Amino acid sequence: MKIVKVEPYVFKVPLVKPFRIFLAEVRSKDHMVVKVETDDGYVGVGEIGPLPEFAGESGATCLAITKERLAPALIGQDPFDIEKLIKRMDAAVKANHLAKSAVDFALHDLLGKILGVPVYKLLGGKYREKVPICWAMGMKSPEEMAKEAVEYVKKGYRCLKAKVGLDPKMDIERIKAIREAVGDKVEIRADANQAYSPEVAIQVIKKMERMNLDLQYVEQPVPYWDIDGMAKVTRSVSTPILADESIFSMHDAVSIIRRNAADIINLKVGKVGGLRVSSKIAAFAEAADFPCMVGSMLEIWSGTAAGAHFAVATKNVSYECELVGPLYYTYDVVKEGYKYVDGFLEVPDKPGLGLELDEEKLEKAVSGEL
Ligand code: MG
Repeated sequence: MKIVKVEPYVFKVPLVKPFRIFLAEVRSKDHMVVKVETDDGYVGVGEIGPLPEFAGESGATCLAITKERLAPALIGQDPFDIEKLIKRMDAAVKANHLAKSAVDFALHDLLGKILGVPVYKLLGGKYREKVPICWAMGMKSPEEMAKEAVEYVKKGYRCLKAKVGLDPKMDIERIKAIREAVGDKVEIRADANQAYSPEVAIQVIKKMERMNLDLQYVEQPVPYWDIDGMAKVTRSVSTPILADESIFSMHDAVSIIRRNAADIINLKVGKVGGLRVSSKIAAFAEAADFPCMVGSMLEIWSGTAAGAHFAVATKNVSYECELVGPLYYTYDVVKEGYKYVDGFLEVPDKPGLGLELDEEKLEKAVSGEL
């Protein structure tokens, strides 16, 4: 069996409401869908949600890299030789981990369909039945965030993530308002998206500790390149620190672990190069006693499904995952998504990623009609 076609599609999908993080205000987001086809007619589909301010990759760069560099590395190869295919992609182009993730998802979807098994069975089987979900809130006023927090706790979520970073004093107010609104039985985590210097991060986190705001962890408080700074924050506070933007590859993850520059890893499967690379990161993180959380690049269903299969199959994913992308959009290119029930995401037993692409909807999205 051989790969005969690798076809990328790029389009933008508007969000139902703006999502403000320190790095950008997101109103509409790029997505790339990739189809990988074999000579006997099987088709696998993958998707990623690039955000240039965060990842350095956009829809346009992903499209160009996939067409010009990744597709030629894959055509004519056996789709089961994933390790070799990853090596060929890495040899064809440095970095570009989002574009590579989309191809890796499509390959896993393809293999699942060929073998008639869900992708989680290719990743070690079902370690947990369903994925506990953390609702992610964009940055707004403390009052608005407290209101949204109450609304989602009522919907069954037991974990909330608050985007912070624009103003350290106001950030503390945001967390205080959310904690007062939801009480002490709900987990709250904060994500500063690199906003602080190490000194400011230590001050803000220590103040929140003195106020007993009881944060589950603080995510990426300092710039992605400042590994020493992040290690200093990690040593200086009792609240756990999670690394996100500092990790875009296996090698980044090793660097964070070796230097004790965080306590937890945000393992976004659509950021580090896909499911195969993610399994390797989860394995050496487990050996080093670093738990993982599967975050999101606000993918639509296809990319979200890849994260969900990984999260049910991977033992070392021990925090509520942020696979909430589809809830931020009113449009998708699949016929039917998975179900969110009472703060959990349920993963179906269908072959591959268990999704059916809606060609008409894909065409409409690509033509820019949304
Ligand atoms: Mg983050």
